[in-house]
Amino acid sequence: MSTEPRTSPAPRGTTGTGPAPLVDRHGRLHRDLRISLTDRCSLRCTYCMPAEGVPWLAGSTMLSTDELVRIARVGVGLGITEVRLTGGEPLLRPDVVDVVRRIAELEGPQGRPEVSLTTNALRLPALAAPLRDAGLARVNISIDTLDRERFRTLTRRDRLHDTLAGIAAADSVGFTPIKLNAVAMRGVNDDEVVALTRFAIERGYQMRFIEQMPLDAGHTWERTSMVTQGEILERLRTAFELTEVPGRGSAPAELWYVDGGPATVGVIASVSAPFCGACDRVRLTADGQLRACLFARSETDLRTLLREGADDDALGAAFRACLAGKKPGHDIDDPSFLQPDRPMSAIGG
Ligand code: SAM
Ligand code: SF4
Repeated sequence: MSTEPRTSPAPRGTTGTGPAPLVDRHGRLHRDLRISLTDRCSLRCTYCMPAEGVPWLAGSTMLSTDELVRIARVGVGLGITEVRLTGGEPLLRPDVVDVVRRIAELEGPQGRPEVSLTTNALRLPALAAPLRDAGLARVNISIDTLDRERFRTLTRRDRLHDTLAGIAAADSVGFTPIKLNAVAMRGVNDDEVVALTRFAIERGYQMRFIEQMPLDAGHTWERTSMVTQGEILERLRTAFELTEVPGRGSAPAELWYVDGGPATVGVIASVSAPFCGACDRVRLTADGQLRACLFARSETDLRTLLREGADDDALGAAFRACLAGKKPGHDIDDPSFLQPDRPMSAIGG
């Protein structure tokens, strides 16, 4: 897919009164705010963090619950309709249930936002029910392997059983759809593409494979060793008949019906088939920096603005200024590409 941005002059649903929507200079309407609740994590996935972790964000720089909800309120007022909580591991944040409740109650021009969560699921057995009662709509759960020993090597923690218990807990409290994410890695779990998909389909979940991106703290990513969408599909086709699902919109995952459907499997091919042209996402880090892109090399400091007493209009203007600088694509394949200083765990995936 081309990385050329859409150029429609007035995106659908943007006419009428109220504040101008969050449209960047390439015509992309922004509806999706990803909020990192913490940069800390209970696992150490090799593609994300080194064994010893990373230098954590200082406590004084972390947004408080009120600060975080205030920024979300400004975003929702500007037309954000989806808020995804992520991290690091978002369930490590003690106020996560409160954050979900308060964000789910916000009102914007399009009504209340849908609040979802990306998690390693370790704390879901304890938190799934309170999160659902607080208004959480959906969960995406990361599970890269079904093999205990591999899980231990890959995440550097022997906790496959906890992730499986977390998935079961999400299911038992009625979250739907449940999406499972796996980063495909050569010689590590690429031979499990079919088994993971079967695991998901048998339980009514959707499996999605993610191309590994240059966002690891150790800067070890190499384009040549990355498992591509083409290879993932090739492996899937050894066991299933795949038919492309039309109408992807701004979703990162391209979907295929498995054996005629209704079950689907997805691939997030951020590197080999970037979808920047339809991107509707903007990101807030746990220390209050707004980022127009996962790969952005600059940030807009909402925390300082907020702590210096900025009103909602000033924060809204900062949102717009951040998006004004959004590039048309991530340019990973460009020789001049530079990995962002922050690792994925401190941006929010
Ligand atoms: N800890 C939670 C989890 O693992 O789901 C949420 C944060 S994690 C950074 C969000 C997603 O980013 C996970 O699905 C993870 O597999 C993915 N991820 C992390 N590092 C990545 C990388 N270098 N390339 C591609 N995906 C990555
Ligand atoms: Fe933690 Fe998620 Fe990174 Fe794994 S991918 S180390 S679970 S933040």
